[in-house]
Amino acid sequence: MTDVVPPGERICERCGRHDEWDDDRGAWTIVTDDGERQSGDPFCLHEWDINGNYSPLAE
Ligand SMILES: [Zn+2]
Repeated sequence: MTDVVPPGERICERCGRHDEWDDDRGAWTIVTDDGERQSGDPFCLHEWDINGNYSPLAE
């Protein structure tokens, strides 16, 4: 087994919500782009795409 690096961000494939992992708070935080929170649809059953840029190998 190699070291696993947890994903630093996640995007919902359904509504486009974009979260970033906040290490300091230990929680997901909604990304703000051009002053607009990428919060997506509050009623969406989010389908997180966290495999697209997920690297299983530590750098
Ligand atoms: Zn969603």
